[in-house]
Amino acid sequence: MGFNISVVESGSNYIKILFDGVPLQLINAIRRAALAEVPSIAIDEVIFIDNTSALYDEIIAHRLGLIPFTSDEAIEKYKAPEECAECKEAEGCEGCYAIITLDVSAKDDMLTVYSRDLIPHDPSIKPVNPDIPIVVLAPGQRLAFEARARLGRGKEHIKWSPATVANITYLAKISVDGNRCNLCGKCISTCPRKVFNLTSKGIEFDEGRCILCRQCVKVCDQEAIELGWHDGKYMLYIESSGALSPERIFSEALKIIVNKLRSVYEEIDKFGGS
Ligand SMILES: [Zn+2]
Repeated sequence: MGFNISVVESGSNYIKILFDGVPLQLINAIRRAALAEVPSIAIDEVIFIDNTSALYDEIIAHRLGLIPFTSDEAIEKYKAPEECAECKEAEGCEGCYAIITLDVSAKDDMLTVYSRDLIPHDPSIKPVNPDIPIVVLAPGQRLAFEARARLGRGKEHIKWSPATVANITYLAKISVDGNRCNLCGKCISTCPRKVFNLTSKGIEFDEGRCILCRQCVKVCDQEAIELGWHDGKYMLYIESSGALSPERIFSEALKIIVNKLRSVYEEIDKFGGS
């Protein structure tokens, strides 16, 4: 069976991949692996040294856990504590925990503590966005802690999911009846995704951008637009938190599925089947 996979659109934090002739179940397995199985690094334990801010330790710890950190190198370098051979009781060692510290005090003015104030001991692990507020300190207040970040997966807690969105949509099939269309341009101005364009040849459209909202069909007085979808063509959209690039999330998800299939084969082999 022939199949075709192509990247339709991509940006720094998203990727749109078109699958033609690939079973929907397989694409869904990739989607689920991207959300729940691809690892990233996040703060998991915080030892507070001083916290005289208005927020409880637990609230600050929770906020810290949700800050995405760059994980490109970390997912190669670190091991998840449960898989770490160095620490048997899952206590944590240098091979599975990265230390991040912070010590900020407000002197005479109010002071907001941001993610940029965090000091990771491993320079490959940085907050994806330096401008995430953690807490506001009043004059004289101090926040100091040592946090431990570790690898985890979205199925354990969503803070470890490098993909904030992963969905599958049908590929739209658009046709404009040239005999009915009077080039009024209502579809062009109504479409929220800017699918339609007026050219010297008439109305042209980009099916890859369509989200099947049907606004163009509703607004066309001439009933010239027909909207459906292509059989066997699906679009996978992955949006990243910034922990990993969207391309990396996709390739890591594929690796995870291949490894799972390999372990199934190995189990079958143990029973003497081939
Ligand atoms: Zn360890």
